[in-house]
Amino acid sequence: MLLIKNGRVLDPATKTDASLDILLDGEKIKEVAPAGKFSSSQDVQVFDAAGLIVAPGFIDLHAHLREPGQESSETIETGTRAAARGGFTAVCCMPNTRPVNDNASVTRFILDRAKAGGSARVWPIGAASAASKGESIAEIAAMKQAGVVAVSDDGRPIATAKLARQVMEYCRSLDLPVIEHAEDVSLAANAVMREGVTSARLGLQGMPAAAESVCVARDVQLAQLTGARLHIAHLSAKESLEQVRWAKSRSLRVTCEVTPHHFTLIDEDVQYDSRFKMNPPLAAREDREALLAGLADGAVDAIATDHAPHEPALKDVEFDRAPFGILGFETALSLALEQLVHTSRISLLRMVELFTTGPARVLGIENEKKIAAGHQADLTIFSLDRSWIYNVNDSSSKSRNSPFDGRTFKGAPVATIVAGRIVWKM
Ligand SMILES: [Zn+2]
Repeated sequence: MLLIKNGRVLDPATKTDASLDILLDGEKIKEVAPAGKFSSSQDVQVFDAAGLIVAPGFIDLHAHLREPGQESSETIETGTRAAARGGFTAVCCMPNTRPVNDNASVTRFILDRAKAGGSARVWPIGAASAASKGESIAEIAAMKQAGVVAVSDDGRPIATAKLARQVMEYCRSLDLPVIEHAEDVSLAANAVMREGVTSARLGLQGMPAAAESVCVARDVQLAQLTGARLHIAHLSAKESLEQVRWAKSRSLRVTCEVTPHHFTLIDEDVQYDSRFKMNPPLAAREDREALLAGLADGAVDAIATDHAPHEPALKDVEFDRAPFGILGFETALSLALEQLVHTSRISLLRMVELFTTGPARVLGIENEKKIAAGHQADLTIFSLDRSWIYNVNDSSSKSRNSPFDGRTFKGAPVATIVAGRIVWKM
């Protein structure tokens, strides 16, 4: 048994903000009681969380673990170690591996690897179309049976409106969310950053905000037509968020996530440095303001990292040629504290919601995620004020592609508990 003592327990599911002790027995929470109630005995390991926040385990809806196929950039073992270090107890991994996770045998392979060497829970996302090529629908029912929690052709959009409609109709009957990487590829073709004054100044090919919002509009219409659960991945543009707001005002089952880099950085931060290259690209100042407003008022459902490791040989090349994507796990919480909480833009409880009950609701598992007797013992313990410097060379990831290398943070993950076990401790 493990006793988490003296922590400030924050649970958005039950609106709890209190000093409580949590007793874990095996994989489950045995009891939650006011601080000081449990007396420690020999068979109880004690974790003193005095001065720390104890939250439900963080869920990342969007990550790339690169296994199978690109193990030189990341593996399920190294990726989940980095996730645990960032406070995440569960990560949803995108299907754009090699081979693509478009059938039950790849799904089972990922789950087996996670069971054997994973530090966090791994919840695979299956491809929407075969090989994510956008031609025919993938074996979604078989993948659901094997354990996928959603479908997506992430890395690219579901290619056509016709196929997106078919996927949504199918997923509606299975009650699976469809996660869309919203991008009109004809508008985005050859672009390496957001179109605007900065792209013109740098002489780099830009994509307009509409490259994203046109696709969001298409999918919102199709969600209305089909009644499907639609989740917009890494939403970055003001106009896209307006589409999501419209959908929510109509009670459509449409949700969205925002990444820490999109609520922290803007296109003006881009230099000829591939660590600032990701897709969707860093957006305009007014987009960031709109995302911050949505994070505060509930239009945004979750913070997701889009952790996208690329080994140095691939990423350390000129901006035009570098692949899209940056690391995300280890800096997500600290960036959220820095940009959202320490600035008083949102409450601490709302931030915890964006990492826990928010993503759980997107996946339809919100009733399973709370700090209460009988529930899974997944907990994220963090500090609000611990000062630290992110040194990417110390990362648990196999890759080093982070624009936040060397940044000083206030507040950090301190321990991560999965199924009653401390999988990472500062
Ligand atoms: Zn994507």
